[in-house]
Amino acid sequence: MFKPDQCDLCGDCLTKCPWLQADQEQAVAWMKAMMAGQETPALRQCITCYACNEVCPRRANPFDLIAALQERFDSFKSREAAASQEAGYTFTKALSGYPRADRVMTACLFEKTHPHLMQGGLYDLPRVGGKPYFCWMLFSHWGQNSLQRKHAGEMVERLALTGATEVVCFHDDCYAMLARLAPDYGIEVPFRPVHLSEHLVGRLREQRGRIRPLGISIAYQRPCASRHTPEKEHFVDELFQMAGVRRVPRTFDRENALCCASIKLLLGNGDPRPDQEKNVRDAIAAGAQAMVCLCPMCLDGLAAVAAEYRLPLIFLGDIARMALGEIPPPDLSGSAIATE
Ligand code: SF4
Ligand code: SF4
Repeated sequence: MFKPDQCDLCGDCLTKCPWLQADQEQAVAWMKAMMAGQETPALRQCITCYACNEVCPRRANPFDLIAALQERFDSFKSREAAASQEAGYTFTKALSGYPRADRVMTACLFEKTHPHLMQGGLYDLPRVGGKPYFCWMLFSHWGQNSLQRKHAGEMVERLALTGATEVVCFHDDCYAMLARLAPDYGIEVPFRPVHLSEHLVGRLREQRGRIRPLGISIAYQRPCASRHTPEKEHFVDELFQMAGVRRVPRTFDRENALCCASIKLLLGNGDPRPDQEKNVRDAIAAGAQAMVCLCPMCLDGLAAVAAEYRLPLIFLGDIARMALGEIPPPDLSGSAIATE
């Protein structure tokens, strides 16, 4: 939720936005207008990457203000289109067949679309997925933030039916919803959300003796949802360290990360390709032999440009599987940077 009392109109949120061209004067003028409930060009230029919420030094949540106005002014989707999308994602049947266990994993909608990313011993735990467990984060990317909020409680309630004390989130967005947004909405989450990176680190610690360090340098593609939960980032670093992977320092990482830009296509907000090229070139210039993605959408969205630049893409979970010898190490023979 936007906290106007905490905003001192510094303008940082919009001047540091990777997607708007706003100088300080413009940023302050836009913020003032939006705080007065007015429409500004920022609403349409924003690609909903959540970066401004992380950047704001006063934790005022400027994206939440932008998102509310995007919805009010139908910046991306009309109310009718949003209602139709809402109906399509809403689970209306009786829920059955869910596991009961102390720790379960939620695969959100990726169980059907990306089953190859959750194979092997690291994912050997009871799993739920599909429409009943959809986290609804997609709707804040469509300028329909209230629908995300409206349905958040259903996801929490259905996960709670498993009786789990810990729920591993395969997708960063689900983790952001459970660890940050649902509590912000006043929804009680009666279990501990576990980020995928924490789960993988735990499994690697249990099998430390099996780890064969990969000895490669990678660029990390930090996804947009991580803006909501930067506190878990140390698990990503620990995973890389345990797997013998060097995360190269580069321009577009950590707080300065560039989202995969795929959302531009969904929003009709321009061609993502120049931004994706900028991102991939930055990784290669920093000496990365491959790029590691946490989000399956980043993997898919960056695939064409990364292939063109000969930068192999690897899913974060596959790094752990490679280190354990479950799957072969990455083939870097065609990489733009083949050897260290
Ligand atoms: S929301 Fe935060 S970053 Fe933006 S103007 Fe206000 S205080 Fe500054
Ligand atoms: S959500 Fe991202 S694109 Fe939108 S204003 Fe904030 S930083 Fe810019």
